[in-house]
Amino acid sequence: MIDILKIRADFPILSQEVNGKPLVYFDNGATSQKPQVVIDAISKYYQEINANIHRGVHTLSQLATDAYEISRAKVQDHINAQFLHEVLFTSGTTFGINLVANGFASILKAGDEVLVSALEHHSNIVPWQMLCEKTGATLKVIPMNDQGELLMAEYDQLLSDKTKIVAVNHISNALGTVNPIQYMIDKAHQVGAAILIDGAQAVPHIKPNMQELDCDFYVFSGHKMCGPTGVGILYGKEAWLNKLPPYQGGGEMIKEVTFEKTTYAELPHKFEAGTPNIAGGIVLGTAIDYLNSIGFDTIQEQELALLNYGTKRLLEIEGLKIIGTAAIKTSVISFTIDGIHPYDIGSIIDKLGIAVRTGHHCAQPIMNHFNIPGTIRASFSFYNTTQEIDRLVEALKKAQMMLS
Ligand code: PMP
Repeated sequence: MIDILKIRADFPILSQEVNGKPLVYFDNGATSQKPQVVIDAISKYYQEINANIHRGVHTLSQLATDAYEISRAKVQDHINAQFLHEVLFTSGTTFGINLVANGFASILKAGDEVLVSALEHHSNIVPWQMLCEKTGATLKVIPMNDQGELLMAEYDQLLSDKTKIVAVNHISNALGTVNPIQYMIDKAHQVGAAILIDGAQAVPHIKPNMQELDCDFYVFSGHKMCGPTGVGILYGKEAWLNKLPPYQGGGEMIKEVTFEKTTYAELPHKFEAGTPNIAGGIVLGTAIDYLNSIGFDTIQEQELALLNYGTKRLLEIEGLKIIGTAAIKTSVISFTIDGIHPYDIGSIIDKLGIAVRTGHHCAQPIMNHFNIPGTIRASFSFYNTTQEIDRLVEALKKAQMMLS
């Protein structure tokens, strides 16, 4: 049984007032709040071991390097990657996807196909469009139904020996749909295509297992899983990472440089040019330790309870329609209220201390599918409570009265 008060006490921001009201933070899909251990670890790094890594022989540089590499090993363990050098530090999901899409420019030719899904965040669409423009490859889209579920029969039809890479999210940020990625990975491999999974919305809720999933790439951001902003992970299978060219040139990613020719460093450094977000990398490990100390079973249990309670309570509101009703969902409820623009609702309930996301959630094609300008999205985390959902429902009713 979750001790919610104890957990909430770990997050100092949750006891704040916003606009004179106790904060209800339901924008976890955009970024999660940070526990005190994470905040302390950032400060401890700068107070005690701040130095550049992989360079100095001096003690602080070695301490910082060790802490950074220990964190990489923690990530490896957390996602069950086979090799440590398959875990690359990036600045976040967006960077990871761009790195892979850029690398595929050296592989694709005109006539090849790239598959994305109708459920993607813009950051898992635009880099692939740019890749197709550069190479003459064609972008194809796996469609979805009105529940916001991807159509697997259509996916099977779209896959062919022309498909070179499939890019799909594990969980949709806009609707919360959990996609059947194991099926999609297996099917992509049957036609010889690579597959990248955008795990940005998955890692706060589940522990993805790279060796079991057998995907070629898996990307995520630290800031959605209780870690700091500006750090993320690109997992890539060794063979693919060896095949792809470096993304950025600079310090740290070289073996030897002359004006005639440069040779590149071994993995993972080949993809880690320049001084990274050292504090962020180290503290991502702290965030992972924190999530594991709560336990992913507990996290999922609490979030499912919030999803069920929230769905039931929100549907009591007249004119409220939930967008995205997939059979398998995470703790995200996207909705519209008849006759009222999401932005107006968001602004009014903000005055009541409630933070939700309104708009297209960087997923305009999804909004186009449902023929709406946007939704109001409440995304719950394990530190949220049913009492907070009651406050949301009350606030929505109030906003509805004011606006209609
Ligand atoms: N993909 C998905 C599914 C997301 O939810 C997000 C963040 N909203 C991203 C990609 C981009 O993540 P970041 O901005 O951290 O790079």
